[in-house]
Amino acid sequence: MEARRHISLKESIRSIPDYPKPGIVFRDITTLLSDPRSFRRAVDALVHPYAGGGIKQVAGIEARGFILGGAIAHQLSCGFVPIRKRGKLPHKTVSMAYALEYGTDEIEIHVDAVGPGDRVLLVDDLIATGGTATAAINLLRKIGAEVVAACFVIDLPEIGGAQRLRDMGVDVRTLMEFEGH
Ligand code: AMP
Repeated sequence: MEARRHISLKESIRSIPDYPKPGIVFRDITTLLSDPRSFRRAVDALVHPYAGGGIKQVAGIEARGFILGGAIAHQLSCGFVPIRKRGKLPHKTVSMAYALEYGTDEIEIHVDAVGPGDRVLLVDDLIATGGTATAAINLLRKIGAEVVAACFVIDLPEIGGAQRLRDMGVDVRTLMEFEGH
């Protein structure tokens, strides 16, 4: 019987040129998520540095950060907190605007999502400029969290987002890098 070739984690990412607009290569993690081995490997690798690290809550950024963050929270036996686009959370929220290439966007968190001093791990699929993650860290800090670290499957290091987060005193872990935007 022919041995089945296992793809690498990086090969499990689908790259789609010129999406959502010309010049952007969209790094699509749906192909990683639908491959059982890749999904487990990615979650295990993201969890590993923080196992036993006293993380109380995992905060995931809508929407792909929810999929990864839920699995990571389950494995760390801690809670999960959603950070959502404006207007989606039902209870009292705090919000933070952040700059996009054109205009601004806003994310929100429930004001009581974490307890004072809770150690939080922030999760998203990809870090580019770090604008989204910076806003998420500021939100979490505003409601009293200690943001211990932020983790992502993909880093686009040329854009400098990961370094931006490190400059804010947040430990950053990523599983792979791609060139460009
Ligand atoms: P940024 O705020 O610039 O770090 O952008 C990060 C957010 O935008 C994440 O939630 C990503 O899912 C998404 N994103 C940015 N660039 C890409 C890309 N090239 N491929 C896929 N998602 C991206």
